[in-house]
Amino acid sequence: MLIVQKYGGTSLGDTERVRGAARRVTGLARQGNQVVVVVSAQGDMTDMLIGKAAQVNRRGAAREMDAYLAAGEQMSAGLLAMAIGAMGYPAVSLTGWQAGIQTDGVHGNARITGISPERIRQELDAGKIVVVAGFQGVDPEGDITTLGRGGSDTTAVALAAYLKADKCQIFTDVDGVYDRDPRLYPDATRFGRISYEKMMALIENGAQVLHDRSVEFAREFGIKVEVLSAFTGEPGTIVGDLE
Ligand code: ADP
Ligand code: ASP
Ligand code: MG
Repeated sequence: MLIVQKYGGTSLGDTERVRGAARRVTGLARQGNQVVVVVSAQGDMTDMLIGKAAQVNRRGAAREMDAYLAAGEQMSAGLLAMAIGAMGYPAVSLTGWQAGIQTDGVHGNARITGISPERIRQELDAGKIVVVAGFQGVDPEGDITTLGRGGSDTTAVALAAYLKADKCQIFTDVDGVYDRDPRLYPDATRFGRISYEKMMALIENGAQVLHDRSVEFAREFGIKVEVLSAFTGEPGTIVGDLE
């Protein structure tokens, strides 16, 4: 199977969590699966970078903000690839542009326009786990773009679509999609499955558990997306058409 997994910031928040992700993807690869891992910046790295940028320029050019913010995801990708390597499995990290992720030129909120998956395929065929920096791409000018806050989800679903993956899993710090934010409402109820339409409606009401464009991609390409906990590994919520 070809599996795309995405790990969010909290899920990679410290060394032990990076190792946890490395252990899971290495286990899948050893079972004979091809694995592409999309990573977010660790913890609240992106917020920290935004704060630091504001110290030097309150209205920094959007192009330079993207160059700066994209580094958070690149660090995660290199770090996870090294953690996988330490477990004795070959891995390679790729930036958005190395992974062939093309976007429009709207810095700070770019839309993925296409993916050239040759490099990823080549690395998978060479037997490696491929770790892709989420949240970023390259525009027609050859400049780094970012996809908007929470955009790593969209990187993962778009890759699953263009690679025709068998599975797309979004690992996060809650164990699925609920009718309300489970951190604010302890009595919220979890969905076993949820349709694209209902998921979009939740997002419009402020549920930032998935990036809106990731659900648009999933619906357009008919990708089933599983949202699940990085800490328990228990089955989560399937976002997709109900059969
Ligand atoms: P990640 O860093 O993994 O991308 P996010 O912070 O973007 O994680 O999304 C996960 C968070 O979304 C959860 O911690 C939860 O508080 C919040 N959330 C808001 N609404 C919902 C909902 N309806 N169902 C699940 N989680 C929700
Ligand atoms: N690191 C970026 C953010 O905090 C992208 C992501 O996490 O998906 O918005
Ligand atoms: Mg998120």
